[in-house]
Amino acid sequence: MARDEVIGTTVSGRPIEAIVFSPPRYAKPRPPAIVFGAIHGDEPATRLQAERLIEELLDRPPGRETWIIPVVNVDGLLGGSKNNARDVDLNRNFAAANWAATYQGGYCPGATPESEPETQALASLIDRSGAERLIALHATFRVMNWDGRGQALAEEMARLAGYPAAGDIGYPTPGSFGSKYGLDRGLEVVTVEVPYLEVDERAWTDTRTALRWALDLPS
Ligand SMILES: [Zn+2]
Repeated sequence: MARDEVIGTTVSGRPIEAIVFSPPRYAKPRPPAIVFGAIHGDEPATRLQAERLIEELLDRPPGRETWIIPVVNVDGLLGGSKNNARDVDLNRNFAAANWAATYQGGYCPGATPESEPETQALASLIDRSGAERLIALHATFRVMNWDGRGQALAEEMARLAGYPAAGDIGYPTPGSFGSKYGLDRGLEVVTVEVPYLEVDERAWTDTRTALRWALDLPS
């Protein structure tokens, strides 16, 4: 029903671990989903969310193939930094049409699109799994943000969490995950932003129903 898989290694050689749940045999076939946390290493609340979600899915499996990656930026999380070990913001490193080499502040997009092994690991998992429902866990706004086909899903998740829903977070995000998979590819992308930076159970309790709903019910 569930198995562990290493989907790649970080700049420092640490494994990026996933758990994949297979749907029950009687479930209606649906495209797989991927949920990932801590692509920003300074958002450990998102790892807690993903780990709690795994615990719950082990008890009650989801209605579709589901990949959970609690920590994409393993080196950053261990070092307490947003960026990876080469100081790249992984959420600016995706090979989106709007990827740009120029940047401001700490938003280094990397030398080339998908130059970073953490970005490559996630991108290759999406390609080989055929996942179409993609849920990115972030902090510290309080919103369900959508890209691509994600609007209906984000609005329902927002209703279930009591959070606002938004299609635009108010600033440009070149090379972001949502740009590549939502804008460019038209997949169902929802960015769940919880207003907790440190490990806080509310990150899970706020979003539990919304995350379960996204994995179980609608197509
Ligand atoms: Zn973030």
